[in-house]
Amino acid sequence: MINKDGVHINIKQLYFDLTLELTDNLQRSFYDKLADGLQKITEASSLAIYQCDPWTSCYFKRAESFIAEETFADQFVMDENESAQSAIQNMVSPEERIQVLQTEVDCNGLIIAATRVNEDIKQDTWNIVAQETEKLLRVFVSRNEAEDDKRKLSFLFNLSAKLNGLYTKAEILQELKHALEVTYPEFSYELLLSQDFEAVGILPVQLIAYADDMTKRVSSQAFMTGDIQIENRWNDRTTCIYAPLRGDQGVYGVLKIVAGENIHFPEDELSFVSRFSNVVGKAIENASLYERSNRLVNDLKWMNEVTQQLNSNLELEDIVTLVRDRTIEVSEATQLGVVFINESYDQSFQVRPGSTDYFFSEQGTVFVEYIVETMLQEKDIIFTGDMASRTDLTAYCSVMAIPMLQGGKLEGIIIAMHEASYHFSLDTLKLVQSFIQHSSLAFSNALLKAELEKTVITDYLTQLYTRSYVDEKVISHMDSGECGALVFFDIDNFKQVNDTYGHHIGDEVLIQVAQIIERHLTGEEIACRWGGEEIAVYLPESGIKEGLEIAKSIREQVAKESEPTVTLSCGIASWTQNTPDSARALFARSDQALYQAKQTGKNKVVLANQPYDTSHGLVT
Ligand code: GH3
Ligand code: MG
Ligand code: MG
Repeated sequence: MINKDGVHINIKQLYFDLTLELTDNLQRSFYDKLADGLQKITEASSLAIYQCDPWTSCYFKRAESFIAEETFADQFVMDENESAQSAIQNMVSPEERIQVLQTEVDCNGLIIAATRVNEDIKQDTWNIVAQETEKLLRVFVSRNEAEDDKRKLSFLFNLSAKLNGLYTKAEILQELKHALEVTYPEFSYELLLSQDFEAVGILPVQLIAYADDMTKRVSSQAFMTGDIQIENRWNDRTTCIYAPLRGDQGVYGVLKIVAGENIHFPEDELSFVSRFSNVVGKAIENASLYERSNRLVNDLKWMNEVTQQLNSNLELEDIVTLVRDRTIEVSEATQLGVVFINESYDQSFQVRPGSTDYFFSEQGTVFVEYIVETMLQEKDIIFTGDMASRTDLTAYCSVMAIPMLQGGKLEGIIIAMHEASYHFSLDTLKLVQSFIQHSSLAFSNALLKAELEKTVITDYLTQLYTRSYVDEKVISHMDSGECGALVFFDIDNFKQVNDTYGHHIGDEVLIQVAQIIERHLTGEEIACRWGGEEIAVYLPESGIKEGLEIAKSIREQVAKESEPTVTLSCGIASWTQNTPDSARALFARSDQALYQAKQTGKNKVVLANQPYDTSHGLVT
């Protein structure tokens, strides 16, 4: 038997020789020499060397040396909580004794197992073997690890360099697919995304929202924590790795790698997948930022163009049309409503003409009421892709309601809607919101302009039109229309009303008369304050008959309803296209008829002579 020092020298000699043979992939001869040498030094009757496959936890026999006969199994699987000693002992008959040396170096599972013994190998010898083997393996492992790291780093570097030259997510996913096929050809892959991004057709894509429960749980875990997750699925006996595609600013999806059987992913492999997915995540982030900045530039151009249009002195209705069309253009909304609100006066609202059909339907009106009420309270955007969770007043799932505010007052709301859930993106909201902000001023100006125009043609006391307005209307209608009737009213003895009750009551009476007249205007008729207590009503496309009807009815109502009671005298004239005539002559004839009414006792209606007819007017 060799003594302790002899063993030490022999083993050092053996391992020195072996170091010279270390390569990336250990050759068969390396294992053979190791087994051979060790068997001789330890004087074991047989000795085998096993190496573990970290993916399967299976130990494969690499080499064996024996004096008597071949005795060790070709391979065995060792459970996590089992020792190598018991795993190997199980392979032989109970009376045979086995000694196992398992190195503590994690060297891709390289273990040295020995030996079926005639007599126990001395503990001293075994200790030296252990000590020296570990030294040898350390050299091998660190060399191997360095090689492996170098290969992986260079792979990641190349991938990252390639990805950084790509500007669309589709191209990145294409490259990712290629890299996966090269690295893990035996596995399959899926991308789990929280929202679809042009990935269709490149890699199988599953929206996280539609994934099965288990996948959703583990992938969400990866998505939220940004850490890689492993899932062993017992039902279909697969092992899945969920690697988050992580950038600096967030997680953009989860890469799911599926192995067709339950396998063990070694630590360093997981760390590689994790680095790999980070490289991809970063590239997606860059592409997103690039797409985003491109979109921002386009949005700015768009905004610049529409702002120019808004500032081109448009009429109110033109602005409504512009806001409707442009909002639909960027949001692809299927319904769009422009609602005006009079917050400071009575909080009443009006759906502007030009809004889409839904807003004039019964359902739409109820929904607008709901939006206005909410908006008056909250003064904030309503933005949802799941309207049903808020109210069942509408069947549209996506709603984007943006307030138009001026000096803190709610002047209106733009409501965009779509049938599909989650149709509008946050980017769309931001763009439309800023567009609405720009248009608020244009709306305000157009409203003021419209109001001013109305003021100019409205009599402040009676709220009827002014004389000049009706004047113009009659003149232009006599040019283009076929016929018309003009009715002049004058309050009888109005001076007396003023004298008796005072000017203020006189004003009240004038307002009462104007309101009664207003009630009679059902179609195209227009009424104006012609002079002090004289009111004119023009009926386009009507004859003297219609004029007479309206005049009689008004005269009767005023006599009945006015308080204090007043009566009206009334003169009516008409024109038709067939007879040469003028507005001035028409006014004069009405006035003449009115004069007749006054002269013949007041509180009556008189029809004027026809043009060039000298006979007396008909007195009623
Ligand atoms: P009649 O027409 O029946 O001949 O008698 P009248 O008393 O109405 O006579 P006239 O047309 O001469 O007088 C019109 C009066 O109406 C004179 C004026 O003081 C009064 N008047 C005109 N405009 C207003 C107004 O805006 N408010 C008030 N309170 N009175 C007005
Ligand atoms: Mg009068
Ligand atoms: Mg008068």
